[in-house]
Amino acid sequence: MENTQNSPLLPDMNSVWQLTLNWQPTKEQNDLFERLYEGILSGNRQFNLTRIAAPEEFWEKHLWDSLRGVVPLLPSVNSAPRVIDIGTGAGFPGLPVAIAIPQSYITLLDSTRKKINFLQTLIEELGIDNTKAIVGRAEAIGQQPQHRYTYDIALVRAVGSASVCAEYALPLLKTGGLAVIYRGYWSEEEKDSLTGAVEQLGGVIESVEKFTTPLSNSIRHCLYLRLMSPTPAKFPRAVGVPAKQPL
Ligand code: SAH
Repeated sequence: MENTQNSPLLPDMNSVWQLTLNWQPTKEQNDLFERLYEGILSGNRQFNLTRIAAPEEFWEKHLWDSLRGVVPLLPSVNSAPRVIDIGTGAGFPGLPVAIAIPQSYITLLDSTRKKINFLQTLIEELGIDNTKAIVGRAEAIGQQPQHRYTYDIALVRAVGSASVCAEYALPLLKTGGLAVIYRGYWSEEEKDSLTGAVEQLGGVIESVEKFTTPLSNSIRHCLYLRLMSPTPAKFPRAVGVPAKQPL
């Protein structure tokens, strides 16, 4: 949809960005967020991409939440990080990250072709040239040399349990790379069971951050998993196995 009025649909949140993340989008980045929002609204009219469609909710759950996981990493990431967003759906968290960190190279992965077709069109329309969208299963690309052991950062939001996300993400990381697993609720007991799974994959749970979202005060957690040594070749297991028999 063209926004013929040229007045933004998204609220001006620069002071909230600054207060919560000590970061703010430039004018160009805000324009891209707006065009991303309009593109998602228009995609939603063709097929169900996301139920989050109201402007403030979109800002909080898709833009702010996506960036909350990565903006704190910015000072420590290398100058042109390779990032993969596993199970990106309508492009989250990967597309806001691509806009916020233009020097990164982002791969958006989803197993649903219709979502990837939509994203390829959207990326081109918005001129987001540091990003490509590919169809595939995390378990399959995790065994392909062009993807395995090649990424600095892997992002996974709302794809499965934490240990399933870890089995998808860690084989794709270089040694020293970081997986960011976005969760809502999280408990110490879950952390205990995840620890063993992450160890088998060659990683450690480096930190768990708890926070609330700035508008609706919803609880969120980000788990940061660091790859310490290459993931053993048997992981990820065959398509479907990680979800059926979690580590
Ligand atoms: N990350 C997005 C979408 C979450 S819905 C968000 O937070 O808004 C989960 C998405 O993961 C779906 O689009 C589904 O097609 C994809 N998915 C599930 N399992 C997958 C797998 N093994 N490999 C790749 N994509 C997967």
